[in-house]
Amino acid sequence: MAGVSRLQYTTEIRLIRVMCAGRVDLEFVLRAFSNGMDGVFIGGCRLNECNYITHGNFHALSMVFLCRRIMEHIGLNPERLRIEFMSSGEGILFAEVVNDFVKKVKELGPLGEGEGIDENELKSKLAEITKLVPYIKMVKNEKLALRLDKVEDYDALYTSDEINRLFSEVPSYYIDPDKCQACMICLRKCPVEAIIGGKNQIHVIDQEKCIKCGTCFEACPPRFGAVKKILAEPVPPPIPEEARIIVR
Ligand code: SF4
Ligand code: SF4
Repeated sequence: MAGVSRLQYTTEIRLIRVMCAGRVDLEFVLRAFSNGMDGVFIGGCRLNECNYITHGNFHALSMVFLCRRIMEHIGLNPERLRIEFMSSGEGILFAEVVNDFVKKVKELGPLGEGEGIDENELKSKLAEITKLVPYIKMVKNEKLALRLDKVEDYDALYTSDEINRLFSEVPSYYIDPDKCQACMICLRKCPVEAIIGGKNQIHVIDQEKCIKCGTCFEACPPRFGAVKKILAEPVPPPIPEEARIIVR
């Protein structure tokens, strides 16, 4: 409506249309920051006026508060991420909030520089967190699906301690070479092809590729119990390739 009504609003924003605010994934926001955006604004339909039964705007709201805490965790100002709700007919409101948001972001300065974080350090922090998005979403699944009465209630939904704990308790997964039977179940189920193996070959996990989803841990048959979940300990190195053949 803002465009149709010829309303003036800043040109320093790039609009990306999605079917629902709920479609905006945590990964999209982190990717925008990784690509150098100084701020991310999400405009959703008014709460309780969703066209879909899913009420995705509540999901977007919860995701934004989670992401803001994550931003604090890595030293970014959470004001760089904002969500507002409005109907498609509220062009004036859209132009106002967008102008206000851009003004605020400009005051904060370029991403990272405004917070005094080294560019490369920020890039690696964002890359590390982006890699953990499936894990974060899995652990926070219940909270992300919550539908609270008031927007203010979302502010207390995620605490800084909780987010610190979330990142300090990231598990690693390791395949015990003495127990692996090369059944290939974990390899077939890994969503990111992080498991290296084959017929009659002890499987190993590529820790660089692993997104900590835990699928292999769940999938490995209990009679083998070869996948170990490791917390707060270094992961043993993978066994050498020549030692992976199983002679039956
Ligand atoms: S936890 Fe297992 S299934 Fe999940 S990404 Fe890592 S290796 Fe693959
Ligand atoms: S599911 Fe378990 S036993 Fe089968 S290949 Fe994977 S780690 Fe080895």
